[in-house]
Amino acid sequence: MRAMIVDDSRAMRTILRRLLADCGYTEIGEAANGREGLDMLNAGYVPELLLVDWNMPEMSGIELVSAVREHPEWSELILVMITTETSIDRIEEALSRGADEYVMKPFTKDVLLEKLEIIKAARTS
Ligand SMILES: [Mg+2]
Repeated sequence: MRAMIVDDSRAMRTILRRLLADCGYTEIGEAANGREGLDMLNAGYVPELLLVDWNMPEMSGIELVSAVREHPEWSELILVMITTETSIDRIEEALSRGADEYVMKPFTKDVLLEKLEIIKAARTS
């Protein structure tokens, strides 16, 4: 199973990598901002799950979400925003732009697995 972490914090990427490995992901790509993440997708690294930080230089998480959702060929891709944002308005904006879910930092493996289960169930129903 393939995933990608898009976060400008190296420390956060390390934490998330461990968490994804615990969740069973065997191939985990990393990008330091939305632009790098989009470049990886365009280069053919298309994961099942994309964990996207909100605030990043070059291209923010919400800009990346919008860009990904412009590509119908990537519609299977699960987009989860990782955020410290607690503003409902901003969270709703992310969801309306095509994010599947969001999780508040810090979060546990169980929280992520539960969100993924909900997303997958909603998609197959
Ligand atoms: Mg950040």
